[in-house]
Amino acid sequence: MGKRVPFVCGNWKMHHGVEATRKQVRALVEGLPRLKGMVDLAIAPVATTLAAACEAARGSGLKIAAQNVHWAEKGAFTGEWSAAHLVELGVTHAICGHSERRALFGDDDITVPKRVRAAMDAGLVPIGCVGETLAQREAGKTEHVVATQTEAILEVIKPDEIDRLVLAYEPVWAIGTGKNATPTQAQEVHAQIRRLLAKRFGAKAELVRLQYGGSVKPDNAAELLREPDVDGALVGGAALEAASLLAIAEAGLQRA
Ligand code: PEP
Repeated sequence: MGKRVPFVCGNWKMHHGVEATRKQVRALVEGLPRLKGMVDLAIAPVATTLAAACEAARGSGLKIAAQNVHWAEKGAFTGEWSAAHLVELGVTHAICGHSERRALFGDDDITVPKRVRAAMDAGLVPIGCVGETLAQREAGKTEHVVATQTEAILEVIKPDEIDRLVLAYEPVWAIGTGKNATPTQAQEVHAQIRRLLAKRFGAKAELVRLQYGGSVKPDNAAELLREPDVDGALVGGAALEAASLLAIAEAGLQRA
């Protein structure tokens, strides 16, 4: 079974309009050779800039992800978009169940798996996010919360497509706080997720890339990505500037 290719994705949240997106994408494309084809790199820009991002990234190998996807193919869902709409633009990945979606927009263990399923059906790579809040960690519930959220996602995945799934462990207390999980804390949860995968999918669990997210920066990326089950990173704040995101992605070269 082949080695997992490290995968870093920048989540631009509600930042960067069209012009800034084009500028940053061009800079990322220019810096892509630094990754020597050995680390996968994606960005998830604002929905209104996806077309511009896809155009600017075309042919470069830089992947474009959506920050969300609806589960229906089409219909009366004002403010949403389907996986087919993303595919039409050239988008290849979709973040599903980011903690901000869970906390602010009602995503839960019913809707997140539906989004993951819709992404899979359309041929996209779903990046399913899981992670505990500070209160849950302090109450000793991390393992339970992560297991519940992960199992809900795995429930909708078929064995022959498991290699396409990406899971991101993002402790909510580490997102945007500047306080990252220690490499040991991250590895502990990633190993738990790997065990859950193995229980369902056997040896194929080794094919699934597990990203860590939560205050990843150029100066802590290397130590996090040194952990055996930390196969990449989902990066917010430090992904907004191409140079910083590229520096984080370069930390993945040590795994290649
Ligand atoms: C995120 O938005 O997924 C994230 C991890 O943000 P930050 O890197 O800013 O903590």
